[in-house]
Amino acid sequence: MRIDLHTHSTASDGTTSPADVVREAAAAGLDVVALTDHDTTAGWDEGAGAAREAGIGLVRGTEVTCWGEGTTVHLLSYLHDPADPDLAGRLARSRGARLARARAMTDLLARDFALTWADVLAHTPEGATVGRPHLADALVTLAAARDRDDAFARILYSGGPYSVSYDVPTPEEAVALVLAAGGVPVLAHPAAGRRGSVLADEQIAALAQAGLAGLEVHHRDHDAAERARLLGLAHDFGLLVTGSSDYHGAGKLNRLGEHTTAPEVLASIVERGRLPLVR
Ligand code: AMP
Ligand code: FE
Ligand code: FE
Ligand code: ZN
Repeated sequence: MRIDLHTHSTASDGTTSPADVVREAAAAGLDVVALTDHDTTAGWDEGAGAAREAGIGLVRGTEVTCWGEGTTVHLLSYLHDPADPDLAGRLARSRGARLARARAMTDLLARDFALTWADVLAHTPEGATVGRPHLADALVTLAAARDRDDAFARILYSGGPYSVSYDVPTPEEAVALVLAAGGVPVLAHPAAGRRGSVLADEQIAALAQAGLAGLEVHHRDHDAAERARLLGLAHDFGLLVTGSSDYHGAGKLNRLGEHTTAPEVLASIVERGRLPLVR
């Protein structure tokens, strides 16, 4: 069984449609894939149809953007009720805040680049959760950057001159919302320090106390020492250990199935989640 529990589609900042993410996962030899777009469940139905057709399993998920104590945290939620009003309402607010933030970033960028809001909209798929990758694509079209990676490295990096913060839940709030919606909360790339500051051991311990279910240990943004640290924390606090690609289509180098999750860990997630695996 090959299981990849973290991917993005055009419902957020991936470049592949939800159905194509699932088809590509099947073609890559995966047995189960999770679709985890940023702050949305918009791709779930399309992904589920494609999973039934392709004969692979789909875990319906969301990567919830959080911010607390100066640190951006991404919390994966698996198999939650998409109609839970508190979680759905909070995600809708986050998407609204992202839209306002993208407009504000565009205004800042427009001082230095010939960028307009129309350019950004032209690179944002209908209904997608907007993010810096869409601004990056618009900058690439203007020839201000070579690709997304270059745009992030030189222009859109966290804490850079065009950064704008926005209102999202704290990790503690998000864990509580996910649990109340029947979801299984797993910290995404919790040691990816290249993106900015990361949670300290005590902060992960506090989240474990609050019901965090697992840590995404095996991810390309973690080196061997970071994985060892996370494995130690998972052991100490009884957390599940996952591995995933964080696939974004053509938007990043990450390839489907480059890191995978053990079948018994998936079984535990499915057992805890309110929704079944689609297959
Ligand atoms: P945002 O959520 O709008 O703050 O944008 C962050 C997103 O940008 C993350 O989900 C990453 O997938 C993506 N990202 C971060 N760094 C890079 C990079 N160097 N190249 C491509 N995408 C990136
Ligand atoms: Fe992303
Ligand atoms: Fe992430
Ligand atoms: Zn992700």
